[in-house]
Amino acid sequence: MTNESKPRPEIKVLMYHRVVDQAPDHPTKMHYVTTEDFKSHMQIIDWFGFTPITFIDYKLYKEGKLTLPAKPIIITFDDGYLDTFENALPVMLEHNMRAVVFALGDRTIRKATWDQEQNDSETYQLMNDQQLREMRKYGFEIGAHTMNHANLLDLSLDEVAYQVKCSKQQIEDVLNEQVYSFAYPYGAVDQRTQSIVAKAGFEFACGVYTGAPRFDDSVLDFRRLAVDQYTPLYKFLVKLLTPYQYLEWGYYRLKKKRTTQTRRVTRTMITEVS
Ligand SMILES: [Zn+2]
Repeated sequence: MTNESKPRPEIKVLMYHRVVDQAPDHPTKMHYVTTEDFKSHMQIIDWFGFTPITFIDYKLYKEGKLTLPAKPIIITFDDGYLDTFENALPVMLEHNMRAVVFALGDRTIRKATWDQEQNDSETYQLMNDQQLREMRKYGFEIGAHTMNHANLLDLSLDEVAYQVKCSKQQIEDVLNEQVYSFAYPYGAVDQRTQSIVAKAGFEFACGVYTGAPRFDDSVLDFRRLAVDQYTPLYKFLVKLLTPYQYLEWGYYRLKKKRTTQTRRVTRTMITEVS
């Protein structure tokens, strides 16, 4: 079967960050779920017959080298937190599941300083090289997430190229194999960053709210469903079992259109008054 004639599956891509034993008792800008909730999520995924796959699996499928399970899903973890290794990995292994982890290229960065809270620095540790390799050994895919968690939209072309290319190289050095996927920190992506990511040799890249709702319509900006402290269990079920990505996509489009219209109306009013 050629690539063109292969049926395009609808695959949801979930986005996790931290999986913590204890929810912080103060408001925090970090994204997390508790280990208890994470266990429930994986149980639910299992109950409903989903099988987590990786982007590498999807690549093999497109090349005709792999058959996809009946209900594939992609679970991603951003940033490469130590708790992905310590808390999420054991739960996933119990269910015989795999996921995709996006780690930083600068392997000297040991803590997630970008979302670190005061007096809380110990809890923001990132995985070391050995832990990344161990995840890989269990079939997890490791992708790149820039060198130092930069917002690519704030950088010059040369700086973006550095962040993208070098992070690929660094993770490849850690794993001793090719890296195919990338995630944009903060979901910050535009056409310019997408073309640099493609040119660097990545075949898949994940944003959050900007990509097409249909899986595979924007392989350099996969739309992801965020799962964090703002996702109570019922909402997790809704995200998992309904075409939520289409609803969210429609909602954001409408919101953007309204904001643009409001701006236009305001501008017209200002022009008329002055
Ligand atoms: Zn991140």
